[in-house]
Amino acid sequence: LERTFSIVKPDAVQRNLIGAIYQRIENAGFRIVAAKMLHLTREQAEGFYAEHQGKPFFEKLVNFMTSGPIMVQVLEGENTIAGYRELMGKTNPEEAARGTLRADYAVNHTFNSVHGSDSPESAQREISYFFAADELC
Ligand code: ATP
Ligand code: MG
Repeated sequence: LERTFSIVKPDAVQRNLIGAIYQRIENAGFRIVAAKMLHLTREQAEGFYAEHQGKPFFEKLVNFMTSGPIMVQVLEGENTIAGYRELMGKTNPEEAARGTLRADYAVNHTFNSVHGSDSPESAQREISYFFAADELC
């Protein structure tokens, strides 16, 4: 079994979409093995998205990710990293395939409702960024 890290971003929490997105995650066969609500500080958001520091959208991204509460969760299943990326769809909802979370829920390229780790290394880093060992089932 493989684990990935997922976020329900502020735009989705604000629109009462936590339940709908969790339902879609579970229907796709992934198990939620840890979850909590957080309101990120600037320092936490900048650290989480450190790979994007210096890019033109960085400031907007940090402002967005600190604008309201988020849900962070660890998903477990078969082929979870790639499979959950597929369920999310492309970063820009205009390019996201029909039936994906971003096609259905994202507002635009920045306010795109969900996050998922892009590699085993990212998943490891991101899970331990937000969860202590004793919070994982
Ligand atoms: P995430 O890391 O949030 O799962 P992703 O891996 O599909 O998304 P990244 O390239 O890692 O996309 O970008 C991180 C986030 O930064 C995106 O989800 C989006 O919110 C924002 N972002 C990325 N590229 C752009 C862009 N060109 N314009 C505006 N916002 C962007
Ligand atoms: Mg990414």
